[in-house]
Amino acid sequence: MTSIERKRKNKFLFVKNKKICSTCNNIKLLTEYGIDKSSNYGFRASCKNCIKQNYNSYQYKLKEKKRYEKYLTNGSLKKNQEKRQKKILEQYEKVILKFRKELIEKGFKQIRQNKNFYVNENGNVKKLPSKTNKNIDWSIQDAYVTKNHYGYLKFNMNAKPFRVHQVVAQEFLGHIPCGHKLVVDHIDGNILNNHYSNLQIVSNYENLAKGMYKKTKEQRFLKYIKDIKF
Ligand SMILES: [Zn+2]
Repeated sequence: MTSIERKRKNKFLFVKNKKICSTCNNIKLLTEYGIDKSSNYGFRASCKNCIKQNYNSYQYKLKEKKRYEKYLTNGSLKKNQEKRQKKILEQYEKVILKFRKELIEKGFKQIRQNKNFYVNENGNVKKLPSKTNKNIDWSIQDAYVTKNHYGYLKFNMNAKPFRVHQVVAQEFLGHIPCGHKLVVDHIDGNILNNHYSNLQIVSNYENLAKGMYKKTKEQRFLKYIKDIKF
């Protein structure tokens, strides 16, 4: 209802001591309106009830605003976040200590290059969860081990590829990686058998020589014809 329509109707209603409220558009008795001498008919445009409701909603909004401003200025938001993070870190450190004990009891050894990686004598690589992992149900994970294009098992650590047999030799045979001079060799020739008793540290030259003589003439020949179908 527009204000002009309301004014027209109010002319007739005033005779009956009634008036239309400008907010709820209901016809109400003049006693339900507050007195305002500055307005045309000497009464307020809205009924007392509507003004009360408006006032209450306005006060409520003000309270909410003040509460939110307090919340921001007190820094309670940040404090709560910091508390939560501290709690999670404490829990994490406890759990990690437990995991480390567990792994050492099972015969795993910590890998020198990364404290969160462990390897056992069979070449199984385990990984501890990182601090940045937001899920609280932490667990010991298997490292993601794949074959490289030579067929050796490898996994990623510190964003670099590491060969499993070299890590086993490093932790169980005391091998220090030194470029091309010394290499870790598989004694039985099976490059997937990474048990430390199957590994030996030899010079690169010896390793190459072994590879040359390991294959008989027949094997070398078979290699060339295996792709051909008769
Ligand atoms: Zn009203």
